[in-house]
Amino acid sequence: MAMSQEKQKTLLAVLAIVATIAAVALVWSSLVRTRGNVETDIKTAVLCANPECGYYGETSLSQLEDKGGTDAGSPEATGFKCPKCGQYTLRANPLMCSKCKKPYLMRIGPTGAYDRTCPRCKTEN
Ligand SMILES: [Zn+2]
Ligand SMILES: [Zn+2]
Repeated sequence: MAMSQEKQKTLLAVLAIVATIAAVALVWSSLVRTRGNVETDIKTAVLCANPECGYYGETSLSQLEDKGGTDAGSPEATGFKCPKCGQYTLRANPLMCSKCKKPYLMRIGPTGAYDRTCPRCKTEN
């Protein structure tokens, strides 16, 4: 009797695993389908943090999957691959200066707080 109960438990565990895999596969396939849909592809502004490059443009979010960097907790260490210089220094959604109308990246000041000051005209946006 105890033996068949044990078998039943094993069977239930196997069924649970199979159900989980099926659910994951279902979610995954619907995700892939969504990504493939061009109409839902959101465009975003990108700016290269490499001072020798300074690439600025607009790209779709699905194009930004090639993520580099190892420390995800630091905004300085993560970036997308820049189409111009090839470095992982491309950042999405740069700030736009209200005065000189130039895009720039938010930096982290010496106090650890975000520095939103424009590097060109020193306007705090
Ligand atoms: Zn670049
Ligand atoms: Zn400015």
